[in-house]
Amino acid sequence: LRWSAGDGWHAGEVLPHAPIAMDPAMVGLHYGQVVFEGLKAYHQPDGSVAAFRPEDHARRFRRSAARLAMPELPEELFLESLAALVDVDRAWVPAADTRSLYLRPILYATDASLALRPAREYRYLLLALVTENFFGAGSPPVSVWAGTGYSRAARGGTGEAKCAGNYAGGFLAQAEAAEHGCQQVVWLDAAEHRLVEEMGGMNIFFVVDGALVTPPLSGTLLPGVTRESVLTLAARAGLAVREQPVPLADVLAGCADGTITEAFACGTAAVVTPIGRVVTEEGEWRVGDGATGPVTGRLRAHLVDLHLGRAPDPDGWRYRLAGP
Ligand code: PMP
Repeated sequence: LRWSAGDGWHAGEVLPHAPIAMDPAMVGLHYGQVVFEGLKAYHQPDGSVAAFRPEDHARRFRRSAARLAMPELPEELFLESLAALVDVDRAWVPAADTRSLYLRPILYATDASLALRPAREYRYLLLALVTENFFGAGSPPVSVWAGTGYSRAARGGTGEAKCAGNYAGGFLAQAEAAEHGCQQVVWLDAAEHRLVEEMGGMNIFFVVDGALVTPPLSGTLLPGVTRESVLTLAARAGLAVREQPVPLADVLAGCADGTITEAFACGTAAVVTPIGRVVTEEGEWRVGDGATGPVTGRLRAHLVDLHLGRAPDPDGWRYRLAGP
């Protein structure tokens, strides 16, 4: 789909995967006026294909676009684009549950202009990729690095938006994490490096004295669709659920004295991934016994069952993209 000032959205088309042409002065390339989404589609037992909470991804896509002074793609067009792509060949949706069909909508400014102002022309693309589920059900807990050398998002910035510019700034921190034997980065608040916020591409949860605790949506972290799903499922399962500031010092103390029994990351790609170890400049702490805990395991299983149509869907999170 294309958008231009005055004419609005133009009809879309399905094209084979191929390089795209761009002007060397494209606004999106130079100034990062680019927003995207990531969601998954799954086979259902009745032979249909369903996406998980695409309306929520559509709404976040609109909010991200608004934050970057871009046109907002109407929810119907977003949903239609998903259905149109899956309809081309639903065999793209992998049958094996070790792989997923990952859908990546992206909106970028195509104007050729080096002027510092919002573009007047945009293009919306939807890519479909078959991805390996990089953290499978039986995969071991990950180690996470909480350093103070870099920040992801400051108040008033774009941390709440899913925009391209939020990610490259984390690559060096990711390399630092790897040097410390960790697979993922935990981001702390930019002002004081005191509060835990989220991870590179996931939100973060702790089980504290049996309650599920996650940092609140303070304006600097991405409001994850999986995060919201986990909060809903946990509350319905009778767990105490709290969105409250999480000081890193409390996490380390809780790991040391055993009040924190589990931690996990969650997101579209990772689903629910256990965290077994937290590493900082001061040392390292094991979470619980370092293995996947029962709350993490149950939440993960429930979410996977919802994706695959094996659990009832009282909230209408599965959205049929293609019939049987
Ligand atoms: N935080 C960041 C920075 C992310 O990129 C993602 C992935 N979109 C998430 C959290 C998790 O969001 P979701 O559950 O909607 O995939």
